Amino acid sequence: MGDNSEDKENATRAAFSFLSIRPGHSRPGQIELLRVKSPLRPSKWAEKHFRLSTAYARPGPFSAYKWQREIIDAIQTHDEVIQVAPSQIGKSLIAEIQVAWCIDNIGMNGIVVYAKKETASDMFADRIRPMIKEIPAIQKFWSGNPDDLTQKKMRLSHMFLRIGSAEVPSDIATWSSGLIYASEVSKYRKHRGWDPIESLKRRQEAYRIIGRHKSLMESSPLFVGDCLYEEMHRSGVLNLRAYHPCPHCGKHQVLTIKQVKEIPNAKKETDHDPGRILRENAARYECMHCKKTIEESSRLWMSDNVVWAADGEKIENGAVVGRKEQKAVSFQYNRFVDYSFTFAMALSRWFAVQKKGTEAMQTFINEDMGEFWHEDTIQISEDYLHTKKMKYRQFTEGEVPNSVLILLLGADCQDDGFYWVVNGYGRGMDKYLVRSGFVAVAKNESQDGKDPHQLAYERFRAAVFASPFRRKDGRQMELFFGFIDRGGHRPADVDYICERIPQIRPYIGSTRVDFKRPVVEQSDKGIWWMGQSMLLSREVTSLIASERFHLPEDVTQDYIDQVRNEYIEPKKDIHGNTKLVYVKIEPNHYRSCENLALAACKAQSLENMLFDESAIAELTHPMSVPDSTADQGNTDDDAQSSYLAGRRGRRSY
Ligand SMILES: [Zn+2]
Repeated sequence: MGDNSEDKENATRAAFSFLSIRPGHSRPGQIELLRVKSPLRPSKWAEKHFRLSTAYARPGPFSAYKWQREIIDAIQTHDEVIQVAPSQIGKSLIAEIQVAWCIDNIGMNGIVVYAKKETASDMFADRIRPMIKEIPAIQKFWSGNPDDLTQKKMRLSHMFLRIGSAEVPSDIATWSSGLIYASEVSKYRKHRGWDPIESLKRRQEAYRIIGRHKSLMESSPLFVGDCLYEEMHRSGVLNLRAYHPCPHCGKHQVLTIKQVKEIPNAKKETDHDPGRILRENAARYECMHCKKTIEESSRLWMSDNVVWAADGEKIENGAVVGRKEQKAVSFQYNRFVDYSFTFAMALSRWFAVQKKGTEAMQTFINEDMGEFWHEDTIQISEDYLHTKKMKYRQFTEGEVPNSVLILLLGADCQDDGFYWVVNGYGRGMDKYLVRSGFVAVAKNESQDGKDPHQLAYERFRAAVFASPFRRKDGRQMELFFGFIDRGGHRPADVDYICERIPQIRPYIGSTRVDFKRPVVEQSDKGIWWMGQSMLLSREVTSLIASERFHLPEDVTQDYIDQVRNEYIEPKKDIHGNTKLVYVKIEPNHYRSCENLALAACKAQSLENMLFDESAIAELTHPMSVPDSTADQGNTDDDAQSSYLAGRRGRRSY
């Protein structure tokens, strides 16, 4: 879609005629002088002239929060203003105000672009048309003729304004505009020969000649590498964030969920219970500099004294010193600028989404925290895993941490044996690796004339249940549930084992991703369960990267090496879009075990229960009575009947 030179020339002529000067005859400085008519700063202009239409929650005059002023005013001093912010925080209102200010003060053709066609229609009806009809400072440019106010083209006395969608190249491709406003930029997608942002910027070329062009972009972020991320991180864009002062030490910081700490319950436990945290306002913000608690009562003052600063800039007396200004600027902020969003609300929401899984966590990160989702792209480091070691050991009886409430197994089959892990889960999905190992037993191996399946079963059982699972406080734990991979190397052995250890069920993984189906579900074709391997693996990565992941001090090097060997990596496709690619490196057997153990957790809906005190009580009482005879000596029939006797945690082997 090359530029049409006639189009460019017309636009240039139109632009010059608005300035009442002839091309080639302007004196130096003349254009600069004429750039802005109003002596008012845009934020002041907005408070004087802008009106919120009836489509807004609170129609009427506009009054800016202090932290919004610098963003709004940036349209006067910068060529490009980007906002990266949560949903429903007023970022599109700020952009609309900036568009209105441009209409009243600069007057050049403009285009407003939304990600989807339907949004473009809705936004024209709800926001743009009322702005022109209802705001006197803008309405004066309109003839009053409805034909001059259609979605296809809005004709004002000194300019045209258009609305389009990033899905429809013809909406954008041939229209010369000095002003572009791109909304929901992170949802824009490139495809063959089509780059929406690039194409929009080409519309400005005729206006660039006379040095008059403005770009506005706003969006909630999606993930590292999306169109918004690329635009704000190109060179020449100054990336600013909202730095809040601490009421105690006066130092500035970007408020983050990481510094919101849970206040323990009456039993002095941090139960991560979203309902309780909200009810009891059980959260406090710890200043990252002085470590003192920042009270909710300071929030308004903090929000009013936000300093917009780039990483590494020095803030003195509430202002940045020594900034090198750029023509383009981005403002990235999160919901903490809104002082009615309490720290307890944030923490409660954070724990609630952790229960719901990766999708919900991503939404929180994008739409509340205003951050790009960072798929754990880099392989988890060995050093990091070593920091996860805690003071307990794998095979020493009585070393299972006291916070463990439930034991789950995941096992992976190979031709030469079985890899397996037993994980312990506690309140709030705290996860401990309780035991792990490899059982050497080759497929079809027989010993002393024993049936190969029987031999595989006996060795597997002897390894996993080598000694009772006893907690440090003496309480004996039983295996609650588990999955063993039936999809690969030795299905007959798997069936044989599952017939004899009824807590362990056969599992078949699918490499396809289908977001409409559960991550794990029981097959209607047989007794096995089906799971979506990539989605599970992705959640395991998040789990490993979280504070909820713990390893025993004697964890093996094999485990550490293998558990790192699956990760998701962003890769550019041929059109330049970022795609997430699932990477697996051999050997990754312990990682497969971890994925299956998480599947077991999901299959039993434990993710919800482990956040719910009454469900925890049901899961853990009555616990099985410690019984020294109740481990390896039992017959298979015993295991079967005790499994049937109770669904949860009350069986022995
Ligand atoms: Zn402080």
